[in-house]
Amino acid sequence: MTLTVLVAYKTRSTMLDKLIYIETFGCQMNVNDSERIVSMLAELGYAPTNDPATADMILLNTCSVRGGAEEKVYRRLANLRIYKRDGKKQIIAVGGCVAQQEGEELLRKLPYLDLVIGTHNLHLLPDMVIGAEHGERRSETTFIDNEQRLDLFPSIKGESRLSRFVTVMQGCDNFCSYCIVPFVRGREISRRSKDILTEVRQLADDGVREVILLGQNVNSYGSKIDYEPTFAELIQQVAEIKGIDRIRFTTSHPKDMSDDLIACFGNVPKLSGQIHLPAQSGSDAVLSLMGRGYTRNSYLEKICKLKTIRPDIVVTGDIIVGFPGESDADFEQSLSLMEEVRYIDLFSFVYSPRPGTKAAKLHDDLPRTLKMSRLDQLMELQRRITREISQTYIGSIMNVLAEGEGKLPGQISGKADIGRIVNFTGDVSMIGSFIDVKITKAYPNSLLGELYK
Ligand code: SF4
Repeated sequence: MTLTVLVAYKTRSTMLDKLIYIETFGCQMNVNDSERIVSMLAELGYAPTNDPATADMILLNTCSVRGGAEEKVYRRLANLRIYKRDGKKQIIAVGGCVAQQEGEELLRKLPYLDLVIGTHNLHLLPDMVIGAEHGERRSETTFIDNEQRLDLFPSIKGESRLSRFVTVMQGCDNFCSYCIVPFVRGREISRRSKDILTEVRQLADDGVREVILLGQNVNSYGSKIDYEPTFAELIQQVAEIKGIDRIRFTTSHPKDMSDDLIACFGNVPKLSGQIHLPAQSGSDAVLSLMGRGYTRNSYLEKICKLKTIRPDIVVTGDIIVGFPGESDADFEQSLSLMEEVRYIDLFSFVYSPRPGTKAAKLHDDLPRTLKMSRLDQLMELQRRITREISQTYIGSIMNVLAEGEGKLPGQISGKADIGRIVNFTGDVSMIGSFIDVKITKAYPNSLLGELYK
């Protein structure tokens, strides 16, 4: 299932006299890009809105990782175009992976569409928007060279928040057989560490307490260049920055989970006790067809090392079901892997071929009904594991970064070190601080607690 995130922000300045509505699909990279778009277009007077009807500009920031993404974008655009009727001057734009993939074709097919912005071209957006305000339709989807990419790494200016993403690398060289990312996001590039550290220092000065180091294959950071630190060293350097009290990173590839990086979970106290480490399958045969570069055993060894170094670490993951040729035995291996790892959360997907990928050429004769029943079985198992792990937290004390008011009156909401949302009784003066909370109740996606004195 594609995650849809509606980006909602407060207006930063009364000078903002135009409105932009953004819908973001897919991964955290896209969420980050949407934040960057908001920050860039504020310079042109655009403030974010949650209401497409009143927006001067509508932008879909798309993802094409799952099958059917293109159709979904076309359907959504058809729904949103109603706001442009009656002669209303409104810019409609598409960004992200579908924009990169389809390019000019989108403009050709959709006469009401104004802008198509590829994954390497966000820096051109202000110019494109100015042009579109004067009726210009434009598509930009050219991959740029590495020198330029290094100078254009996203850093977001704007309203201060307690937790911020910091992009440390982009693209991917892995070419897993099912994945379209290397084609639509380009090859891997690691950002200059001095630029990363400057950004993190700036964020700390702005009151940010937690940074999430972001990249498509984040733990491959620095591995292909010898003049930058390794990812483990980068984490240590970020941890030295005063004011930053918690560090997370996403998304990691198991094959790039070095011993040095695993050791950071033991010797960098600021590093969060949660890791997202997607296995994708528990079967060696399927992992080999996926081209993942590790085996079930080597994956489990890394999990074991992590749990040895940090016994309370929580692991989240991804599993794909119904990959071409996945037998009942292969699927059982994925279920047993889940039991062994005990993920607290799992993102599970039914395989869908992406055009141009190696796996799209594989013979896929598994009936859809079988794939769906495997997905149901897997999700049911995950619900049980999540419930069991969550129950063990009742009575424990968690250190929570209080990030804002909860849904209920008198409630504060924040994130524990293990990444779980914790709602607890408190007052707004606590926001921005790390608070010890005693957990009293566990829900599937969050925990409830009270102040621990
Ligand atoms: S590591 Fe594999 S799945 Fe992840 S982005 Fe790269 S190619 Fe895609």
